[in-house]
Amino acid sequence: MILLDGKETALAVRQEIAASVAAATAGGRRPPGLAVILTGEDPASQIYVRNKEKACLETGVIPFSFNLPATASQAELLAIIRDCNARRDVDGILLQLPLPGGLDSAACLLSIDPAKDVDGFHPENVGRLSLGLPGIAPCTPAGVMELLCRYNLSPAGKKAVVVGRSNIVGKPLAMLLYRHGTDATVTVCHSRTRGLTREYRNAEFLFLAMGRPGMVTGEMVRDGAVVVDIGISRTAAGLCGDAHFASVSLKARALTPVPGGVGPMTIAMLMKNTVQLWKNRMAVS
Ligand code: NAP
Repeated sequence: MILLDGKETALAVRQEIAASVAAATAGGRRPPGLAVILTGEDPASQIYVRNKEKACLETGVIPFSFNLPATASQAELLAIIRDCNARRDVDGILLQLPLPGGLDSAACLLSIDPAKDVDGFHPENVGRLSLGLPGIAPCTPAGVMELLCRYNLSPAGKKAVVVGRSNIVGKPLAMLLYRHGTDATVTVCHSRTRGLTREYRNAEFLFLAMGRPGMVTGEMVRDGAVVVDIGISRTAAGLCGDAHFASVSLKARALTPVPGGVGPMTIAMLMKNTVQLWKNRMAVS
């Protein structure tokens, strides 16, 4: 079985990004800048934001950190986003989700300039993805695709099953899988899907994005399947994916670990998207 090592792969991606940023800035360009907006004191969000800022420093991206209290108003948050939209040194804007109760995340995401929408959550970028136009894809699905590509695992013509239909993972992942050039045949499942086990067993490529720790066991998986476990749940035993790792690893041809699989790839893609937005803005300014 091939262990799809997201940690090693993400390191390689970050090193490539760092080299391309260093080459461009040595030629006199200003470095890329990423605004990271954290609202409230959610411990998981604080860890994610720290890891993102660390990845910025490793790749030559300047992080601009905005930390707001959980009591911040919608108007205060929108004012920071407006300021970041206008700043020349900010190429990407990351709004760490979830926002504390009472704040409207959809309105905040809509207020981000689509040209600085590093997470690809703005309806304009979602629309571009669904139309197959060039643009920014959400970091987690983009990280999944990059990981498959680096291990030469092509889903072209294969039966792919995505379990989860969220706007940030399942839906964009399905779009990336069936688009021209990738060419998987995709089924999207969710909590109301009947005969889920049959769908798992049919999958040549199985993508799990439910947040149900250890739910998918080896006997539910097709022999030789590629299994990408996107789920992350905090359990008493530590971080855990949706796949029961020990039993699925006996059936799968390739499998991502949790942690150390898709998670690090997500952060690497955040850096890649930031640098892409920076290059786009340099080309027109
Ligand atoms: P979400 O918004 O809660 O969506 C979960 C999806 O799974 C929903 O579509 C839900 O169906 C479906 N689902 C839940 N229980 C199910 C079941 N028993 N059978 C079939 N489908 C089921 O979560 P998300 O934001 O997409 O995240 C999914 C998981 O990925 C979480 O564990 C999250 O922590 C993880 N994640 C990881 C990364 C990373 O970097 N590795 C990034 C983002 C998220 P309904 O639509 O019918 O409710």
